[in-house]
Amino acid sequence: MHFDLTDEQRRWRDLARDFAQGEIRPRAAQLDREQKFPYDIIAKMTDLGFMGMTVPQEYGGSGGDFVAYNLALEEISRADTSVGITMEAHISLGCSPIVGFGTREQKEYFLGEVIKGGRKLWAFGLTEENAGTDAGGTQTTAELEDGRWVINGSKKWITNSGTDITGGATIIARTGTRENGKPELTAIIVPQETPGYTRGPGYEKTGWRASDQHPLYFEDCRVPEEYILGERGKGFRQFLQTLDAGRVAVAALSVGLAQACLDEALQRARERQQFGRAIAEFQAIQFKLADMAMEIELSRNMVLKAAWLKDRGRRFGREASMAKVFASETAKRAADQAVQIHGGEGFMETSAVARYWRQVKINEIGEGTSEINRQIIARSLLQESAEEAKEKMLAQ
Ligand SMILES: Cc1cc2nc3c(=O)[nH]c(=O)nc-3n(C[C@H](O)[C@H](O)[C@H](O)COP(=O)(O)OP(=O)(O)OC[C@H]3O[C@@H](n4cnc5c(N)ncnc54)[C@H](O)[C@@H]3O)c2cc1C
Repeated sequence: MHFDLTDEQRRWRDLARDFAQGEIRPRAAQLDREQKFPYDIIAKMTDLGFMGMTVPQEYGGSGGDFVAYNLALEEISRADTSVGITMEAHISLGCSPIVGFGTREQKEYFLGEVIKGGRKLWAFGLTEENAGTDAGGTQTTAELEDGRWVINGSKKWITNSGTDITGGATIIARTGTRENGKPELTAIIVPQETPGYTRGPGYEKTGWRASDQHPLYFEDCRVPEEYILGERGKGFRQFLQTLDAGRVAVAALSVGLAQACLDEALQRARERQQFGRAIAEFQAIQFKLADMAMEIELSRNMVLKAAWLKDRGRRFGREASMAKVFASETAKRAADQAVQIHGGEGFMETSAVARYWRQVKINEIGEGTSEINRQIIARSLLQESAEEAKEKMLAQ
């Protein structure tokens, strides 16, 4: 076993670090203040290959592996999580379901011609007013009529759905009821300009303020029958798989934000003088820095292990949930301690750590709350121990 990255993974990480520190970080405060979507930054990230990172090259992507993607995402998020979530939602939620479940024609057209490595963004619409954690409660419907799906309903808080460069969204709709009374859910591709598909105004948010979220409305919105993603009725399984991978990426985003907190805290601790010396010389401050560094190191290793398992086609769902919970809570503690180390200065909106403190909470909510991820971890432990017990019984 070894912990070395490949040359390619290192290249992606270093490219992301240089770009993020040089071009994103200096503008992060202004982007947050003005709540403006950073079109020029996304265009440059597209040119550098970040916005198509895990999409195969034959479909216009960069063909990077999942480890490389998470390394890059950590670096981008270390500079600004609004840009980080724009990249994450586009790749993990927008492109990956099309890569994983789409037909060859869908990949060639939507990934290769429409999205083209990030020239257009793609969104993923699951959440609704009454279907959040319980996504099985989806009320948006799609009925097949004369070779077209007729969609009615709405979605909420959908990232990347309303920018000037959005190409469309893949949404989850109810296409019937199963024999057991549960809804039959199907993923359907809806291009942006489809009649009957509209977006409401964006939201006033505490974090990710330069990223784009809107409610989506469908009123007799018709798309061709072949715009179904994969097979009819497979939507539930598809979004569970999509969210497994998305959780690793949100964990990477959290590691980036936690690292940014440590960067700022270290600098402040070295510079701020009290009692005639730098506050970094006080053990109380040193222990905070040490705890932050330990937790970040652990979180990063958890992200990379989950990503490594996925790259090898192995099961990674439990590791993804563990990484998501631990990294998002690490980032929360890191933001809290970074503000503490800054003292009153950390409470001022002019300080970067105040912005990090506002931004960090969403990481414990988006793409599966901490509660739901803890349930996933516990269920997998219980299932494993039941299987072990059964094996022991059979062996006797
Ligand atoms: C900025 C932002 C961007 C987003 N982007 C997208 C996007 O691109 N696409 C998309 O589809 N969605 C998106 N979402 C939605 C996001 O995924 C949901 O907010 C999240 O899944 C939680 O759902 P909810 O907010 O409805 O919380 P709720 O489901 O209402 O949960 C409220 C609380 O109850 C707890 N809870 C619920 N059920 C249980 C249970 N069975 N056991 C224990 N506790 C439980 C939750 O953990 C939580 O603490 C976004 C949200 C935000 C805020």
